[in-house]
Amino acid sequence: MTQPTFTLTVRPDQVGVISMDVAGESMNVLKAAFADEIKSLLSEIKNNKDIKGLVIISGKADSFIAGADISMLDGCTTAQQAEDIGRMGQLVFNQLEALSIPLVAAIHGPCLGGGLELALACHARVATTDNKTVLGLPEVQLGLLPGSGGTQRLPRLVGIQKALDMILTGKQLRAAQAKKIGLVDAVVPKSILLEAAVQLALKGKPAARDVKLNFVGKVLEKTPFGRAIVFSQAEKQTLAKTHGNYPAPLKIIKAIKAGVDGGFNKGLDVEAKAFGELCMTSESKALRSLFFATTQMKKETGAGDVQPHKVHKAAILGGGLMGGGIANVTATKAGVPVRIKDINQQGISNAMKYSYSLLEKKLRKRFVTKTEVQKQMSLLTGTTDYSGFHDVDLVVEAVFEDLNLKQQMVADIEANCSEQTIFASNTSSLPIGQIAAKAARPENVIGLHYFSPVDKMPLVEVIAHEKTSAETIATTVAFARKQGKTPIVVKDGAGFYVNRILALYMNEAANILLEGEPVEALDKALVKFGFPVGPITLLDEVGIDVGAKISPILLNELGERFAAPAAFDRLLADGRKGRKTEKGFYLYGAKAKGKKQVDASVYSVLGLNPAAKLSGDQIALRCVVQMLNEAVRCLEEGIISSARDGDIGAIFGIGFPPFLGGPFRYIDQMGAATLVAHLRSFESRFGARFAPSKLLLEKAEQNASFY
Ligand code: NAD
Repeated sequence: MTQPTFTLTVRPDQVGVISMDVAGESMNVLKAAFADEIKSLLSEIKNNKDIKGLVIISGKADSFIAGADISMLDGCTTAQQAEDIGRMGQLVFNQLEALSIPLVAAIHGPCLGGGLELALACHARVATTDNKTVLGLPEVQLGLLPGSGGTQRLPRLVGIQKALDMILTGKQLRAAQAKKIGLVDAVVPKSILLEAAVQLALKGKPAARDVKLNFVGKVLEKTPFGRAIVFSQAEKQTLAKTHGNYPAPLKIIKAIKAGVDGGFNKGLDVEAKAFGELCMTSESKALRSLFFATTQMKKETGAGDVQPHKVHKAAILGGGLMGGGIANVTATKAGVPVRIKDINQQGISNAMKYSYSLLEKKLRKRFVTKTEVQKQMSLLTGTTDYSGFHDVDLVVEAVFEDLNLKQQMVADIEANCSEQTIFASNTSSLPIGQIAAKAARPENVIGLHYFSPVDKMPLVEVIAHEKTSAETIATTVAFARKQGKTPIVVKDGAGFYVNRILALYMNEAANILLEGEPVEALDKALVKFGFPVGPITLLDEVGIDVGAKISPILLNELGERFAAPAAFDRLLADGRKGRKTEKGFYLYGAKAKGKKQVDASVYSVLGLNPAAKLSGDQIALRCVVQMLNEAVRCLEEGIISSARDGDIGAIFGIGFPPFLGGPFRYIDQMGAATLVAHLRSFESRFGARFAPSKLLLEKAEQNASFY
C-alpha cells in the first residue's frame, strides 16, 4: 500500500492536526495525485463533529511545501490540459477555504508556489522565525502564474500593489516581512509553532479584515481611478523590464485586474485560462527546462561515481578584485575558514574590507545579524607568507594573469601544503595544462573560473586538464556548489567555454560599431533581444584593456575568426579602459550628470561618423549567430560535454536570455538549417568568420536537434 501523504490526528483539545509528508522526497511538493486524498480527508473531517479547528503542518524537518511538482505540466500537450490542472488546484483550495471550522497553516521552511497558495486558502497563517522559512509565489520565474488561486487570494490579503510586486518578481519574503504586510498572522520560534497554530485555530475563524493600507494606498487601491493607475503603471514597468520577451507578467496583471474588477470567480477563470496558455509557451518551456537542468546538475559530482573530499579549510592567493570576492563566498556561503595570502598587507586588507562592506549591506537590510557578521568575518584571516597553509585542503589562485607567476604559485603550494591540497586557478585565459606543466602533482591542479562580481555571478567553470584527477574534479565541483555557485565542468582550452562564445559575440558588436552604427543602437538591440546589458556597456564594465589582453590569446589558439578589430587599439592609446578609469564608450562620474550617455568623443577616436542603418533585429542576429555557432563548435570539440552544460553556462555566465533556454535550445527552436542559412548569408558578405561549424552543418543536414 502506498504511504498516505496527509495524516490527521485529533488532539484532546479537539483540534485536528493534518501532517503532510510526501514519501520519497526531501521536500514536500504538491502533486495532482493528491487531490483524491485531500477530498477523502475533507469528508472525514466534515463527518467528525468533534473537530473544532484544524492545523496543517509539514511532517518534514525543514520544508512546509516547496511548490507544486511542475514535471506534471510536461505531460500536457494542449493548453486545455494544463488549464484543467490549474482548475483542479483551484477547486481543492476552494474546498479548504470553505470549511466551516478554522484552518490554520503552520509554516516552517519554504512555503512557495502551490505551497503558499494552499496557505492562502487557510483562514490564518503562523510562520517560524527561522531563516529557512520563506514565502513567495515564484511561478513567474518559470514563465507561469500561480494557477491555483494565488493571483486572487494574495491581493485580497495584502493589497493589489504588494501582491503585484510579489507575483511579478517571484520574490521570497522572510516571516517578519510577511507579517509586516499582513501575509502571516503571527511569527513564532519553531519550538512553539504547532501550539501557536492550535491556539489560533481554537480562537475560531478570524473575521474578514481590511487590507493594511496607508492613505495613498487607499486612494490607489480603493478607487476605480486609483486602480486604473496602479494597473497601467504595472504594465508599463513590466514592458520596460521585459521588452515584451516574457508573456507571463502581463497575464499576471490581467488576472489580478480581472479579479479586482469582476470578482473572485471571474478572477479564477481568467487565472486558469492564462495558466493553461502560459504552460504551452516556448518561454515557459525553456524556463522549466532550465529549472530541471539545474536541479539535475546539483546531483552530479562532475566526475561520475567518484565522491568529493570535504574541504575543511581553504586559501586564496591574491586579495584583489577576484580573490576578495572568492574569499567572501568561501566564508559567507560555504562557511569554510579561508586564509588570504597576498604579497602585501594592502591586498589582504582590501579583501577583508570588501567582505565587510558586503556583510554590512546585508546587516543594514537585516538579512544577517551582528553575530553572524562577526562569525563570518572571523573565518577570514590574512598572511603575507604561507603560515597556516599546511592543513589547507584547497587553494584558489587569483594572482596576476602571468604564466610564470602562476607556475611559481603551484610550486609554492606544493612546498607549503599537503600532498592532497588542490590547486585551483582562476585564470581567465591561460590553459590549465600550462599552469600545471611543471607541477610535481599535476593531478591536483585544476581551473576554477569565476565571473565578476563573484558574489553575484552564479556560474563557475571547472576546468580539468589532461592530468587532473577525478577526485580533484569532484572536490572542486562540490566546493563551488557550497559557495552557492553553479559549476559546469569544461575541457581545457583557450577561453574555456564562456569567454570563447562571448568573445565572438563582442567582436561582432565591435565590427558593427566600426561600420558606423551608434553605440546606443547596438546596446538597445541586444537588450531588446534579452541580454541584461548590451555588448558595448559590457565592454566598458569588463574593461576594454581586459578584452584586448584576452583577444590575442584566443586568436593564436583558435584562429582568425577571433581577430578583434584593430581600431580598438586606438581606444587604449586614448586611455579608455571603461568604467574603472571612468573613460570608455559611456560617460561616467560628474560628466554623466546622473544619466547613461554615450561619450561622443569616442567616435572621433575611432574615426567614425555614426548613423543608424541597421534595424535592431539585424544587429542582434549578426552578433547572436556568432555566439550560437561557437557554442556548437565547443560541443563539437568536447570543451563542453553536453548541450545542457552549454545552455547553463551561457545563461548563468553571460546572461543569455533565459526565456530562449540557452544557445542550444534556441538553435533547436529556430532549426539548425535556419541558423546555417543565416551564417551562410553573413559569410558571403563578411567572410569566413561566419563559416558554420561542422557539427551544426551535420545537424542541419540531418534535420536533427541537440535535445
Ligand atoms: P587584481 O590585480 O585585482 O588582483 C591580483 C592580486 O594578486 C593583487 O592583490 C596582488 O597583490 C596579488 N598578488 C600578486 N602576486 C602575488 C603573489 N605572488 N602572492 C599572492 N598575491 C599576489 O586581479 P584580479 O582582477 O582579481 O584577477 C586575478 C586573476 O583572476 C587573474 O588571473 C585574472 O585573469 C582572473 N580573472 C579576472 C576576472 C575579472 O573580471 N577581473 C574574471 C575572471 C578571472
